[in-house]
Amino acid sequence: MLPTTATASAPPPPPAAGAATSASSPGEPHDALLLALGYMRLRDLLACARACRALRDAVAGDPLLWRRLTVGPPLSHRITDEALLALTDRAGGRLRSLHLLGCPRVSDDGLLRVVQRNPDVTELFVPRCSGLTADGLVKIIQFLHECKGNLSHVRLHGICKMTNDHLDVIKSLICRSSQQDAQALYYNHRVHEVLNTDDSRPIDVDVCPLCRNVRLVFDCTRKDCREVKDSWTRCRGCFFCVARCETCGRCIDLEELGETGLACSDFLCMDCWLKLPKCSTCNRPYCERHSNLKENLSPSGQFTCQECTAYATSLESLGNGY
Ligand SMILES: [Zn+2]
Ligand SMILES: [Zn+2]
Ligand SMILES: [Zn+2]
Ligand SMILES: [Zn+2]
Ligand SMILES: [Zn+2]
Repeated sequence: MLPTTATASAPPPPPAAGAATSASSPGEPHDALLLALGYMRLRDLLACARACRALRDAVAGDPLLWRRLTVGPPLSHRITDEALLALTDRAGGRLRSLHLLGCPRVSDDGLLRVVQRNPDVTELFVPRCSGLTADGLVKIIQFLHECKGNLSHVRLHGICKMTNDHLDVIKSLICRSSQQDAQALYYNHRVHEVLNTDDSRPIDVDVCPLCRNVRLVFDCTRKDCREVKDSWTRCRGCFFCVARCETCGRCIDLEELGETGLACSDFLCMDCWLKLPKCSTCNRPYCERHSNLKENLSPSGQFTCQECTAYATSLESLGNGY
């Protein structure tokens, strides 16, 4: 599930529709609905505000609803600096957590204006916001530091041209504890798609020990790798430097890669590869994430991959041409 909650991250309680006994007067929203507003995703909250005047006032008039703002798909591609400023202004200067997940239209200037009005922000998540720059983010984090704010968590992966120097400055400006730094990050495709919600490290990116770029750097889940210190450092690296199993996150060597072909473009270790059902023509499995691509799926689990199906179809149409 994409973390698009506007406020709390807990799932919303069941709606109170049908509970006719209410302390509210007729035509007014039920009290339970007003309570539920605090658990709604941004999109639902905005839809609710359009339902009637009472709800609009309830949504607009409660700054507490806006202290934690998450803008995720599908709103992320539409939100502009002005819209973001209008939304964050609803917190009345008390915004604490701002998660912008892949919002390309938000600029450095726009985000700076938001933090200038909300200097108490403690969480600033801007992964894959392609309109932001490393220089701009340093300036924004510097501003929060000068305001004696408590910015303690940032998520920056996918920000272009982030260098070691940028990262060093950001590290020096963030409130952090050494315990949080020690936490490992394991590869998981979800890291790329949405934020890893279990990750309590202050900064998500690091310098890849292999290519020296600032990226998400994964630790190995393989027990042998973790026990042998040398080998662990060898397979600690970014997505581009170390091939990892899509399912369990452990490193995969070249030999293993050659033996574990997949019908999708991911990689699996031998253990995870062996467990999966294979295409009845080419004997390649799909990873769990792409299992929806199976064609001609039979009740017994037999299937054909898309490539083999396309090949069979093209042969058929060739045959029909003669
Ligand atoms: Zn690397
Ligand atoms: Zn595996
Ligand atoms: Zn490893
Ligand atoms: Zn196949
Ligand atoms: Zn896959």
